[in-house]
Amino acid sequence: MSMGNEEKRRALEAAFLKTDELLDSFSDVLRQDFSGKPHAVRDFSETVKKLVPEEKSEVTVIGKPATEISKAPDDERLHMSFDSLLSDAKKCTRCGLCSTRTNVVFGTGCKDRPTVMVIGEGPGENEDLQGLPFVGKAGQFLDKWLAAISLSRDRNVYITNTVKCRPPQNRDPYPDEKQACFAFLKQQISIIHPQTILCVGKPASTLMTGQPDASMGSLRGRFFFYDGIPMICTYHPAAVLRDPTLKRPVWDDLKKLARYLGLPAGGS
Ligand code: URA
Repeated sequence: MSMGNEEKRRALEAAFLKTDELLDSFSDVLRQDFSGKPHAVRDFSETVKKLVPEEKSEVTVIGKPATEISKAPDDERLHMSFDSLLSDAKKCTRCGLCSTRTNVVFGTGCKDRPTVMVIGEGPGENEDLQGLPFVGKAGQFLDKWLAAISLSRDRNVYITNTVKCRPPQNRDPYPDEKQACFAFLKQQISIIHPQTILCVGKPASTLMTGQPDASMGSLRGRFFFYDGIPMICTYHPAAVLRDPTLKRPVWDDLKKLARYLGLPAGGS
């Protein structure tokens, strides 16, 4: 029996992911030679499209390297150990957010190759007070999403944000703030080496895919690669609490991630 297009597309994606894993196990030099840029987001979408005729697909467009990503190649933080990075963050004054923070909110959860790294926007009031990400209402909701696909921050998830200090009045972080903080995130990803990344909300999704002007609707539910790591974007839990019609697309996105990881997905 011959393979359908969807099957072919999946087989190709699996092959590309396997190739990525192999490349990851070689030296940094080879990886940089392969992409032409350190930490670039690799783009296999055109190759997949050529090999398999267009049809409704789970794997759509793969992002371009973020401008923010390419601007931070020589930052000293990119050479730090996890502990040094954390102590650097705790005394960081690289942007104005340091003047209003109570605590730096660096991240929490499994630091050794977690199944998923969740990247949110930035700490809110509760997070700023406690020094931990996603501990308020949105965080409790996020924990339910994770539990629905058999994940938990206590076991197999690491949670962090695009900026480590609370933006006043919970406004979106400004591009220069995300830029100043990006080396922390980049080095966290490099050290923690998650199996996949889940971006929640627009600031994280646009930053990590390198598509600053894209809408959340256009980014959600698609697999991207960040530095060889499969990455999917969805709406922010706070947005879903405000607009329950977003529950369905979020659930679709989570199921897609669960299917990719081979995890059971419960709920409705
Ligand atoms: N929203 C976020 O994006 N991050 C947090 O840590 C809390 C709320």
